[in-house]
Amino acid sequence: MGSKTPQLHIFFFPFLAQGHMIPFVDMAKLFASRGVKSTIITTPLNAPLFSKKIERSKNSGMDIDIKIIKFPYAQAGLSEGIESMEPSKEMGLDKISQFFWATSLLQEPLEQLLQEFKPDCLVADMFYPWATDAAKKFEIPRLVFHGISFFSLSASACMALYKPYKKVESDDELFVVPILPGEIKLTRKTLPDHVTQGVENFFSKLFKAVGESEVTSYGVVVNSFYELEETYADFYRNALGRKAWQIGPLSLYNRGIEDKAERGRKASIDEQECLKWLDSKKPNSVVYVCFGSTVNFSFAQLKELAMGLEASGQEFIWVVKLDKGNEEVEWLPKGFEERTKGKGLIIRGWAPQLLILEHQSIGGFVTHCGWNSTLESVSAGVPMVTWPIFAEQFYNEKLVINVLKIGVAVGVKQWVWVVGDFVNRDAIEKAVKAIMVGEKAEEMRSRAKAFGEMAKRAVEKDGSSYLDLDALIQELSLRHSR
Ligand code: UDP
Repeated sequence: MGSKTPQLHIFFFPFLAQGHMIPFVDMAKLFASRGVKSTIITTPLNAPLFSKKIERSKNSGMDIDIKIIKFPYAQAGLSEGIESMEPSKEMGLDKISQFFWATSLLQEPLEQLLQEFKPDCLVADMFYPWATDAAKKFEIPRLVFHGISFFSLSASACMALYKPYKKVESDDELFVVPILPGEIKLTRKTLPDHVTQGVENFFSKLFKAVGESEVTSYGVVVNSFYELEETYADFYRNALGRKAWQIGPLSLYNRGIEDKAERGRKASIDEQECLKWLDSKKPNSVVYVCFGSTVNFSFAQLKELAMGLEASGQEFIWVVKLDKGNEEVEWLPKGFEERTKGKGLIIRGWAPQLLILEHQSIGGFVTHCGWNSTLESVSAGVPMVTWPIFAEQFYNEKLVINVLKIGVAVGVKQWVWVVGDFVNRDAIEKAVKAIMVGEKAEEMRSRAKAFGEMAKRAVEKDGSSYLDLDALIQELSLRHSR
């Protein structure tokens, strides 16, 4: 930006969950790297998860900061200590809805900050639909960040408009998503309960408000790049009439090894040790298995996964998250670690995912299709085994398998909150082999690599995401100088 342009100040306000905070922090850094003053709003226990990264950015000359607001435990009737959404088998939808509701109490402290600092724009998470009205009070434009693809944004909107799942006779009957390009077929079983049950509950109301705020806000910023899903980016803008800017893949703005390793939590393995292990493997020979930050498998599913992986004969890195107190439980098949010694690496806890995916020895990714993981895989040029669990993950699976053709579906049939539908060892063995070996695997890998190259070009100077961000900054600057 030229020296005469007044500096823009933007607030970034992520929902309190890893899958939301991670891309938000990358996004705040991205804007700061383009001359914007970025302020991230979060709560006391979340700030330390990315404060080092922000310090490093500041030291490199960026104008970026964190503002802390208190989490309203007492008002919300929640016990102290949990400030990010970590669903588990024990923490069901009732507790989660209480947590979501608690976050709506952040409106008041947010408004105080908006009043005090009068930023030029508020980029707030989709799960804060009330943020549009909060910003309006101070005549501040609010941008929505969903953290999902154009494809999923479009599919969700079509589903809300036409409710095709009401017109089928059974949960297994396929229907086509109306007006969405590509004749995408789904079943009722793969949609969230709050969509299909037809009852008014906390989540159906929340998602209705989310849909409305998408239309009433200033626009939408999307973590994607044009070349990946051109048809759906155009459809979202032209057929659905949404104002949107694509600025991703956001993960690609992490350049140094520290920034890549420190995303979300602290990794449970020394990153050098992990890289050394990968360095000892042949290119494209290791399958990476990880299900994001919220999926919580049963012991039976973990055991089945172990057996499927072992039967596939592939080398692997497998990230396993266990609930507190369950770390010592014998969930692996007997003798598994001895038999797979040297061939497989289990990371218990949090993995430095970006570093792993970008390593040349990774040849495939077994993923739950969270959008961050999916896009990180695309950016690294790695094909996927798709194993969707809940949220909008079944839409992402369709994008990967039907549209991009860079994956093999493990065959999940049903949306199941957090725990997922049970997948048996044979399906796992078959899908892992199919993504790792053979001519078809090579074809998918080379397509994935081509998308990876496009992703890198999109964020470079004059790439599609680079230019769209320019356009957004210019538009906001014009408003600012009026
Ligand atoms: N992630 C990571 N290490 C892990 C698990 C996840 O770094 O062990 C990161 C991953 O790179 C991604 C995010 O956490 O950026 C997970 O987001 P995603 O949308 O894939 O799934 P969610 O956690 O929201 O279900």
